[in-house]
Amino acid sequence: MSPSTRPMIPLAVPNLLGREGELLAECITSTFVSSVGPFVDDFEARIAALSGTERAAVLCSGTVALQLALEALEIGQGDLVLAPSLTFIATPNAISHSRARPWLMDVSANDWTLDLQLCREAILTQTVAGADGLRRHRDTGEVLRAIMPVMVMGAVVDLDAVVALAREFGLKVVVDAAAAIGTTMADGRALGATGVDAVCYSFNGNKTITTGGGGAVAAADPALIQRIKHVSSTGRVGANYEHDVIAYNFRMTNVQAALGVAQVERLDSFLARKRQIRDRYAAFAADYPFLEPFPEPEFGKNGHWFSGFWYTGDDAARPDAFRDHMRGERVDLRPFWMPIHLQPPYQDALASAMPVADHLWRRIFPLPCSTHLSDEDLDHVIAAAGRYWSTVDA
Ligand SMILES: *Cc1c(COP(=O)(O)O)cnc(C)c1O
Repeated sequence: MSPSTRPMIPLAVPNLLGREGELLAECITSTFVSSVGPFVDDFEARIAALSGTERAAVLCSGTVALQLALEALEIGQGDLVLAPSLTFIATPNAISHSRARPWLMDVSANDWTLDLQLCREAILTQTVAGADGLRRHRDTGEVLRAIMPVMVMGAVVDLDAVVALAREFGLKVVVDAAAAIGTTMADGRALGATGVDAVCYSFNGNKTITTGGGGAVAAADPALIQRIKHVSSTGRVGANYEHDVIAYNFRMTNVQAALGVAQVERLDSFLARKRQIRDRYAAFAADYPFLEPFPEPEFGKNGHWFSGFWYTGDDAARPDAFRDHMRGERVDLRPFWMPIHLQPPYQDALASAMPVADHLWRRIFPLPCSTHLSDEDLDHVIAAAGRYWSTVDA
């Protein structure tokens, strides 16, 4: 195909080639299109099973999943939540919506997730333990209550180390696994079977499985899920219009859950294709001394929501030049997430120094990774990247 007629290859678009249409039609014939219905229960059971937990609650987005997990753990006004700066803005937004505040930390250069050593030093040097056992920030007096590690682009977090740190300082753990459906610990343990308090997912259109828009919380404690179900569905008690709390309408509909069930049925094949795509990009990067695949730490099995490579060289103009080249080749390569400490709403947030996030974010290239990406398109992406990097010295 000539460059001008070739359609743009997108980063990640929904693969709806399974039973999606069939299950959506069932919603129409049954008239169960709203927030009650068999697909909601079925999808919740499947998400719980995948997470190694007894129960899960499906909701209308990943952002509210994170928010309600915090609120159900009674985190809110006057509280601080440790979170990495290298994440999508939904992470700190969810913390803010709960009325707590994010305390932003840099990521580790080894795995691009929350730098736990840095967190530990910050806790020891910047908080003081009160007689009530709570740790307060020395300058603001806010109580450090939780830690929210992020599985950035699906990359596994060392949850055993997070849980150990949390136990040392009495913190709750809410995992932003928005992009990490299918990611497990190295020994096969599901994310919810690691001692964390809650695991939150997103089913936005670009995620590995999608419900159009949606999210879920999985938790080992069924009472936590019960509280989330209650506040996400108006706080209704009994059959009449009686409500016991100021609650939300954050439910997932049966229509969305029908998509979710059809998607989850194909999760294994989605993950297999994601891994093939990842392996092709890793093999490409291996030919260049200044390109590296995204990290794959030994403590987990990455679900590879996104894959690609990053530029380790020193020429600051290269990343934008490569993105321009790829768009000219009809590959939709856009800049990666700008870290949160650089975003206007969070410029005044408590934050560590950010040498790793500041260095990394412009150099990360997430490449097309839809699960139905054709081999022909994948070949084109790799050939197009080669046409750029083979002309570069460093
Ligand atoms: C996608 C994503 C979210 C947000 O989920 P929504 O469903 O869009 O609200 C949150 N955190 C991370 C890390 C994500 O990748």
